[in-house]
Amino acid sequence: MFENIEHVADTITEKELKNLLLHRNRQWIYKKDGSSSVNGSLKTVVLSCIDSRVPVEKIFQAKPGELLVLKNAGNLMTDDMFRSALVASVELGAKFFIVLGHTRCGMAIKNNPAKIDHIATKISQESLNKLASRSKKDVIEWFGFFNQNEWNENATTQAEKLQKLLDETVSKDLQPTILKAIYDLDSGEVTFI
Ligand SMILES: [Zn+2]
Repeated sequence: MFENIEHVADTITEKELKNLLLHRNRQWIYKKDGSSSVNGSLKTVVLSCIDSRVPVEKIFQAKPGELLVLKNAGNLMTDDMFRSALVASVELGAKFFIVLGHTRCGMAIKNNPAKIDHIATKISQESLNKLASRSKKDVIEWFGFFNQNEWNENATTQAEKLQKLLDETVSKDLQPTILKAIYDLDSGEVTFI
């Protein structure tokens, strides 16, 4: 029915979760292979989606110390991701910044009224209004939803946004080269676009 991954019940307790994670961590201690002193040795930042099927370090077979990884829902270039991009390039010497989108992204629902309505039924209209007024944006824009199948376009939009933010704030010599790529959830293949 499911792939070979662990599933927990909705009723899982905090203690059970901690036990599961710590059990795995104890195994990791013996497997850990990588740096505990050098940070970002591939001089590359990857911005990807929170989707748990996009394990960036595993996709590129990166060891601890090699890749700098940022994640949020929809791999969006938000203010905080920009902050981290600057830290990575200015302080950690990152030369490349990859916006890594992926196929079948759950944030690609902007042109799907059924999915948008579903969110509105889970979050009350009052809460949606609060989110909108707090962010001073249309709430759909604030969430960062994009159109179905437009993973490439979204990655391009986010890359352009980063370039604009960099151009507005720091000199060229501090700017990483921005790349765009898509991860295919099913095949596991990465394609630069
Ligand atoms: Zn996603």
